[in-house]
Amino acid sequence: MNAHRLPTGTSATIPTCTRISALGTTSSCAPKSSSPMRWRVWLALAAAAGLANVASAAERFCENDIVLIDTHFEAGAFHRCDVRDGNFVITIRPEDSKVQVPMPWYAFRATPKRPGDAVVLLGFVGAEADRFWPKVSRDGVTWYRLPDQAVAVSSDNKRLALRIALTEAPVLIASQQIVTTSYYDAASRRLADRPDVAVRLLGRSIHGRPIVVAATGDKPQAVLLLGRQHPPEVTGALTMHAFVTALLDDSELAGRFRESFQIITVPLLNPDGVAAGHWRHNAGKTDLNRDWGPFTQPETRAVRTLLAGLEDRGVALRLMLDFHATQLTETHLFYTQRPQDGDGRAHAFAAGWLDRVRQRLPDLRFDHRPSKSASANAKNYFFDRYGIPSITYETGDETHPDWIETAAPVFAEAMMRELLDP
Ligand SMILES: [Zn+2]
Repeated sequence: MNAHRLPTGTSATIPTCTRISALGTTSSCAPKSSSPMRWRVWLALAAAAGLANVASAAERFCENDIVLIDTHFEAGAFHRCDVRDGNFVITIRPEDSKVQVPMPWYAFRATPKRPGDAVVLLGFVGAEADRFWPKVSRDGVTWYRLPDQAVAVSSDNKRLALRIALTEAPVLIASQQIVTTSYYDAASRRLADRPDVAVRLLGRSIHGRPIVVAATGDKPQAVLLLGRQHPPEVTGALTMHAFVTALLDDSELAGRFRESFQIITVPLLNPDGVAAGHWRHNAGKTDLNRDWGPFTQPETRAVRTLLAGLEDRGVALRLMLDFHATQLTETHLFYTQRPQDGDGRAHAFAAGWLDRVRQRLPDLRFDHRPSKSASANAKNYFFDRYGIPSITYETGDETHPDWIETAAPVFAEAMMRELLDP
């Protein structure tokens, strides 16, 4: 039983905007603000903190007499790190010049040489500095939002100054909680232990990383869940994990659902981008969510092979959910078909599904945005090819993990009910 799970029929008050606080409790999001006065004070502090630098112009690491900073771990990424006039200056820019979406992923480790405060200046190219609020972790598992008083934003919103309190252990600093292939490997191993779930290799990324599919037993109809086309969209990954967990739990509803529907999940479509700390693309400099139809990349082609197998076996796909994350004031956002698309049933499913969630969680703020575009994204591809509800399931970048754990099972249960008893 999930500790955050709400009893059936009750509702919870969910703040519209929550973040991880330094103490791990929720706090309301502060409005965006920059503080030029404080920024100048910070620069003076930074200059005083690291004057005895012993290295400069390093790329993947740099150090002074207080701390060594590096990115030599999976998803560790920045463009470069320099020590200038005693200050750490880290430049953050997208992985290639075609990236247009300003989701500035960065992740680095600060290993102290002695206890003290390190001041790190981050400069952003192609994104606003406060697009993600910096997160910190000592163990890579539990993540905290850096306290407001430890972060200063420049008046042009292109630079951040971070003050990092160092004791003896290294700390990880990242734009979002780091969720890499080891997280997915652990989830796959847990699923592979279940007699009713088959985990297998679906294909490989450009760099040869596995793309794994986990599926329950064959049924005449199936639902398909896709995840992590876009590397920085970590809250979408956490939502997908909680959602799938609810579909696979031992409730009467989930058992009944699995009697009628095969559940097929491909949780990590862009392992190369995740491992390299990309903002958007795979290793082929391609936005995978613009490759549904062209199928120029091995990651999307792997799913096309899966679909061909379903068609060969006469399995009817009933629903596709594609998990993403974005900047939101609401907790979630759903892009669905419009009432006038096709015979209207795809929109009707989405409306019915989300209405069920509203009845369970009337205070949960989420947005339903029926839309149609010419984009070669998964939503359009699956609707055009199969005429099924094809939904982009967005989670807010700063939606608190506890609320993700609370809301995702409610969305999962509502989805199962809407498919079983429309
Ligand atoms: Zn996305």
